[in-house]
Amino acid sequence: MPARRSAAPRFVIQQHDATTLHYDFRLEVDGALRSWAVPKGPSTDPRVKRLAVEVEDHALAYADFEGVIGEGGHGSGAVIVWDAGTYRNLDDERSMAEALAAGHAKFWLEGSKLSGGWTLQRTRGGAKPQWLLIKRRDERADARRNPQSTQPESVKSGRTLDEVAREAAR
Ligand code: MN
Repeated sequence: MPARRSAAPRFVIQQHDATTLHYDFRLEVDGALRSWAVPKGPSTDPRVKRLAVEVEDHALAYADFEGVIGEGGHGSGAVIVWDAGTYRNLDDERSMAEALAAGHAKFWLEGSKLSGGWTLQRTRGGAKPQWLLIKRRDERADARRNPQSTQPESVKSGRTLDEVAREAAR
């Protein structure tokens, strides 16, 4: 397959039933998936700041993964592709990598469930940097939505996390 040089970078949000249920928010940056574990998932309400704990990068191919991660490991459990699409950097001055290194990135998502501007703001560095993921105030903001509860299914297969776990257990 030819390189899609002009394609917009991807984002994916995988719901993951590991030790604790969380959403893995991933942005394609320079050929890898920069990743954050967001316990409650993103909010579409700009007044709500969601904790996002930076975790290790994942390979780009992992963006399509849906299934059950095998027993034993710290990340074992069912995974669905809860939302996916493309994004663009809203920072005119800096690349995404530069913005993330500086601890403040702003970007526009075009997903199936989530769209509009979002901010990632680092609040604590160290071994496990903590960030806040916040909806920006724009026409896509909506304080009344709660997509985690009203749209729980995979955008890839239509299955819920429980259905994926049950099918794998058969
Ligand atoms: Mn995870």
